[in-house]
Amino acid sequence: MEQQDPRLQQAIAFHGHYCPGLTIGYRAALAALRALGVSRAVDEELVAIAETDACGVDAVQFVTGCTLGKGNLILRDWGKQVFTCGRRFDGRMVRVALRYGAITPPNADALSPEERRQRSLELLQTLPEEELFDIRWVDAPLPSPARIFASAQCSQCGEGVMEARAHLRDGQPVCPECYGKVYTRRG
Ligand SMILES: [Zn+2]
Ligand SMILES: [Zn+2]
Repeated sequence: MEQQDPRLQQAIAFHGHYCPGLTIGYRAALAALRALGVSRAVDEELVAIAETDACGVDAVQFVTGCTLGKGNLILRDWGKQVFTCGRRFDGRMVRVALRYGAITPPNADALSPEERRQRSLELLQTLPEEELFDIRWVDAPLPSPARIFASAQCSQCGEGVMEARAHLRDGQPVCPECYGKVYTRRG
């Protein structure tokens, strides 16, 4: 599958290495798109929520087109291999969760870490979606679309800063970095 699937190859190239985490995100993203009956988001027609900030997020960004930069990928650093994907036109969301133990090879304790990793990768390539993941529809409000914020000039460093991120000091906008420095100096 690694050799035969050009999209996985591209995801590996984007991520930098081939690993179980990336492959979990890859298969989860494909499962979500299939369930939703959609393909990769060009703009913001899809939204994804990742409950991990690890390797799988790169595959989710690559496969679904939901990215941090576009604002339609939301990261929840909960350390869970769970990816939720929704489509904006009707608000349908599907949650794809790795089944606990699904990629733990039999007699894992007898294997070296490298052997275990290889077996996990094999399982990730061969197991059918329904054995790998718990896939279900969820009822939750879709995160709101990315908004364009006005920018302000920081009164300390003179650089631009998104207005929504700026603090006010003596009625003047201050960027978070400068605000931190002022705070530290005072402390
Ligand atoms: Zn990785
Ligand atoms: Zn500043």
